Amino acid sequence: MTDTAVPTAHPSGLEPADTRAPLEQRRIVATQIPGPKSTQLHEKRTHSVARGLGTVLPVFLDRADGAILLDVDGNQIIDLASGIAVTSLGHNHPALTKAVRDQAEKFLHTCYMVTEYPGYSDVCERLNAIAPGDSDKRSALFTTGAEALENAVKISRAYTGRTDIVVFDHAYHGRTLFTLGMTSKEAPYKAGFGPFPAHIHRAPLAYPLRWEGGRDKCTEEALTAFEDLLERVGPQNVAAAVIESIQGEGGFIVPPEGFFAGIREITARHGILLVADEVQSGMGRTGTMLAIEHDDVVPDLICTAKALAGGMPLSAVTGPAQVMDVVGPGGLGGTYAGSPLSCAAALAVFDELEKDDELLGSAARIEAAVRRHLEPLVSGSDGNGIVAEVRGRGAMMAIEICKPGTIDADPEATKAIAAACHAQGVLVLTCGTYNNVLRLLPPLVIGDELLDDGLSILAGAIRSVAEADGA
Ligand SMILES: *Cc1c(COP(=O)(O)O)cnc(C)c1O
Repeated sequence: MTDTAVPTAHPSGLEPADTRAPLEQRRIVATQIPGPKSTQLHEKRTHSVARGLGTVLPVFLDRADGAILLDVDGNQIIDLASGIAVTSLGHNHPALTKAVRDQAEKFLHTCYMVTEYPGYSDVCERLNAIAPGDSDKRSALFTTGAEALENAVKISRAYTGRTDIVVFDHAYHGRTLFTLGMTSKEAPYKAGFGPFPAHIHRAPLAYPLRWEGGRDKCTEEALTAFEDLLERVGPQNVAAAVIESIQGEGGFIVPPEGFFAGIREITARHGILLVADEVQSGMGRTGTMLAIEHDDVVPDLICTAKALAGGMPLSAVTGPAQVMDVVGPGGLGGTYAGSPLSCAAALAVFDELEKDDELLGSAARIEAAVRRHLEPLVSGSDGNGIVAEVRGRGAMMAIEICKPGTIDADPEATKAIAAACHAQGVLVLTCGTYNNVLRLLPPLVIGDELLDDGLSILAGAIRSVAEADGA
């Protein structure tokens, strides 16, 4: 090509994607949910998609904006899930979409292990800057949360020269074979997939609502149990203790004050690395970049993913250079690890979260709204009500549903509440070892009116299920 042949249109002849007017941030129930088109598509899918892929709400999406999902039947659903804590900036965020589009026009892939691009190291710099502690940090990028956890284990073993890993009750760390071994819940995650790798040990998690010795003893007794476990395993064999800063799938369990500090002190004393799994709780979800900041604890390694690139697949392990750099060149990587598109998206996420206090501050606004709507429903001392607890931090809130006035889990009532919300165009997720926790993960950009609408629907659903239960 000579320098006079400047192409003026894309060789495909396609026009660039136009930007349509954004969806109105309003709930619209146009048909039954799921509607006829979704139902038809769902039926069709059963002939092509493996049955092992579950679906919370079988509606098929056309597009999404902010906190609104538009399905193929014209329903506008309030998104209180964010694709499981991923789309924290909201759907179709202009800065994020633009960053991905701009990068797509440059190149999609080189493989960072083949040739480099600046986005990768820029994301690592940003991650290093938010990691707590004074040490010089390094990061490595991967694609999924499970992959980050697997690599954190690899790095911990390489650094300590030890084999064993301690995890906690109710933990969720992923679906690959090693991370499934670290994950706690049997069905549906682990059933039928064993045996799992050896050298994984499970300690009790400080779970105030369900601690046998009572809330007041929870921290102290859980720490004693952790030390007892280390004694049995031999602390000199333990490479790392891996813990979610706030448990996700396990039920949004927020450990009581002092628990993380205690775990930090014990692990440090034995030369055990502390790995914070911030895959669900990190990247602004709780109102700070990382949830562990609330506990003022400095972990050794930090795993991030989900919201890191706002919907593009990206995960990371961040830690002190002294630990991370123990692995020699070629020891870490992956074909798609730190994809250029994902890195471009992550840089836009960092820019937005760090631009002003509005987005991070939004987490506190969301928590306040959730508490205002749902705390009045918590079972009183009169033994009424099916809400045992409202808990969480920022935009990571959950309610635990139990038989009236008890802490006996009620998964049926939980399912009924979620179904009632879905039918009215409000997407909520469930979780918890006992399938009795409703969790709320709205995008940080959700407006007050939309949030109030969604939470009113949820509160109404809880009331009507409670009434049916005679609470
Ligand atoms: C989702 C999740 C993972 C696994 O992430 P994937 O990207 O699904 O592999 C690990 N840990 C926690 C806390 C999670 O919420």
